[in-house]
Amino acid sequence: MAYLRFNLDLAIPLNGAVADGAQPKDIISQLPLELQTKIAGFATEIRRAKKYAVRINEGLANEEHTVTANFHVCRHDEGKSCELQEI
Ligand SMILES: [Zn+2]
Repeated sequence: MAYLRFNLDLAIPLNGAVADGAQPKDIISQLPLELQTKIAGFATEIRRAKKYAVRINEGLANEEHTVTANFHVCRHDEGKSCELQEI
């Protein structure tokens, strides 16, 4: 069986500081203005696609985790841990 499979890793600089434990709306407000209005719709479409996603080789030793979608405030360059949030 063939699959349409996405892999994304986009590190978009935030305009300002985001507090630890910030809510998604607070994170979104720190994105470039053009993205602020689009990112919620993008997340909605990812959630929609996620409903159709399946684990490749489910139940087998070589099962792949192909039903994941998440984002996080990345603080690698600050030497701090990241805060993963599921989409
Ligand atoms: Zn990170």
